[in-house]
Parts: sequence; C-alpha cells; structure tokens
Amino acid sequence: MSLADELYRETILDHYHNPRNQGVLEGPSILSVEGVNPLCGDELILYLDVKDGKVEGISIKSRGCSINTASSSMMTEAVKGLPVERVEELIDAFKNMMLKGEQTAVPEEFEDLEALQGVKKYPVRIKCALLPWNTLIEALHSAASGETAKAISTE
Ligand code: ZN
Repeated sequence: MSLADELYRETILDHYHNPRNQGVLEGPSILSVEGVNPLCGDELILYLDVKDGKVEGISIKSRGCSINTASSSMMTEAVKGLPVERVEELIDAFKNMMLKGEQTAVPEEFEDLEALQGVKKYPVRIKCALLPWNTLIEALHSAASGETAKAISTE
C-alpha cells in the first residue's frame, strides 16, 4: 500500500469511527431529507438549515456502511458554513471526481475528500459514497422551493 493510500485509509477510518455532525437538528427552519441506497442497505436522514443563502447547520443521522458514514461525515464538515453556490460547486466537483475520475476536481481546501477516491476501485461502493451528496442536492432543492421533507432513493 502506498503512503497516499495509507493516509486516505486513515482519514476514512477516522471519520467512520468519529463521525462529525451526527444526529438530529431541530428548529423551525430545519428541513430533513431521507436517503436510501438499497444496494448496500445504507439509510440516512439529512438535516439542513439554510439561512441567508448559507448552510448554517447540517447534520446526518445514518445507519450505513463505513464508506457511507465516512462520506457523510466528511461532507458535513466540508459544507458547514459555506454559501449555497459554493456547496453546489463542491457537489459537482466531488461527483466528477467519483464518477469521471477527475482527480484535481476538488478545490485544495477540501483535499481530505480525495480520500474517498479509493472507493472507485469498488464500483458498487461508489453509491455508498455518493448517497449523502445526492441527498444534499435534494435538500438544497427543497430549501430553495420551501419544502420541508422529502425522500430520495439512489436506486
Ligand atoms: Zn454502503
């Protein structure tokens, strides 16, 4: 295993064992979106608080595999506090990295996310890594249209 692979593995394990921003967010402006990946059995609920065009709060309550948990944790850490336009750019960059193999797609300040590239070696797990990101897209759409609850499936 190369040094980069080793560091990537440590990053993923760290987020898996100590997931950031876990649990339920409560408040009048919080919306929640459910995400399911039936292939692996990953399930999550994403809580999002968008205020003044910014991700003020985000948390995820998940029951899933290590990749899904790590990706959820890394995503919430990356997008918390960011303006919605920047979050949308980051989602595009992350999906390009995972689906099209553009290694340099992710901006430098989010280079931790590159750790998830290793998942590409296991194509069935890519959906595990993408589930929180696809759920966040739905949550942002809901926030923009004033909805408060939605469910998506990546099947
Ligand atoms: Zn999974």
